[in-house]
Amino acid sequence: MKILVTGGAGFIGSAVVRYLQSHTQHYVVNLDKLTYAGNLESIPESLQNEHYSFEQVDICDAVALDKVFNIHQPDVVMHLAAESHVDRSIDGPGDFIQTNVVGTYTLLEASRKYWMRLSGDKKSTFRFHHISTDEVYGDLPHPDEVEDELPLFTETTPYAPSSPYSASKASSDHLVRAWLRTYGLPTVVTNCSNNYGPYHFPEKLIPHVILNALSGKNLPVYGDGSQIRDWLYVEDHARALVKVATEGKVGETYNIGGHNEKRNIEVVKTICALLEELVPAKPQGVNAYEDLITYVKDRPGHDVRYAIDANKIAHDLGWEPEETFETGMRKTVQWYLDNPEWWQRVLSGDYQLHRIGENA
Ligand code: NAD
Repeated sequence: MKILVTGGAGFIGSAVVRYLQSHTQHYVVNLDKLTYAGNLESIPESLQNEHYSFEQVDICDAVALDKVFNIHQPDVVMHLAAESHVDRSIDGPGDFIQTNVVGTYTLLEASRKYWMRLSGDKKSTFRFHHISTDEVYGDLPHPDEVEDELPLFTETTPYAPSSPYSASKASSDHLVRAWLRTYGLPTVVTNCSNNYGPYHFPEKLIPHVILNALSGKNLPVYGDGSQIRDWLYVEDHARALVKVATEGKVGETYNIGGHNEKRNIEVVKTICALLEELVPAKPQGVNAYEDLITYVKDRPGHDVRYAIDANKIAHDLGWEPEETFETGMRKTVQWYLDNPEWWQRVLSGDYQLHRIGENA
């Protein structure tokens, strides 16, 4: 099969590309605009082989998308390209509406025009897989506030997004469902919890804390750190996504989670404990990594708890996460310790030299 992955230079998209290239025979077309979040160095050169092509294209560019569909004739589209950082969406929502809403619409139209021209098996097996977030459901009661059994997000939880980011993703989910219902485009949607793991861009909580701790800088924690997130190891997620894209049922939604509900402060303290064990020689002036924790003003509209019920994908498609929070966090911290050249080139900006027009 030929799989077109949008956002394949991003954190989760690159994990999907690495998984497809190392565990399957499928041909991968990686389509990415290479924004600040896109990094082709997240795909080892050995995997950028004869089963792989890269197209630097903006999903808002209808003409360029038509060209890619005509040249590559994909069997499946896995749509991960997005603006993904909540804080950036609060500071500047425009890019989020443009890429996540207008871009998804433009990609749906390009896919629909292409799909309408197909015939036979190629038409009946075509899939458009939209990758989304559990943040579309809003937030859930926190254990500090309720004594009853705590609810989880299921595939039928009503949408109630809180941030410009989650509202833009909710809009894109609705567009995808409308293209199924109105035009019959064979779509499938997944909504997942917070991912973590190798090649995570340093602006996100876990890599930010690891890298700040290694250089003796403060470890900022929003509010009192009691917000709860369900953490999913990115390689478990990539495996789930390929399963859904190739075996999922048209019209269905699958929630994907790691069964790892943790308070943000627990996440930061886990990283500190792992670093105490793995890097006992600390930066000058630091007695304990935990001493670097600094509580900062909470994010506006901050959701208090997310938690996913992932029973449907387990039951229907036989997917379960392989990593626990403890094993996944250990692998993640070790990966950052073993791969300083990757994150140093991100921090210096050199990773962007791959972008067209900036490459000598
Ligand atoms: P990311 O920000 O790391 O990567 C996004 C990728 O999309 C980048 O490579 C970027 O260059 C590309 N991109 C951005 N705008 C584009 C455009 N206009 N045209 C083409 N490419 C463009 O994001 P991620 O963390 O890998 O997330 C991937 C998907 O998964 C997103 O749709 C996100 O909403 C969803 N998601 C992420 C998480 C998470 O924890 N990271 C959780 C739930 C859902």
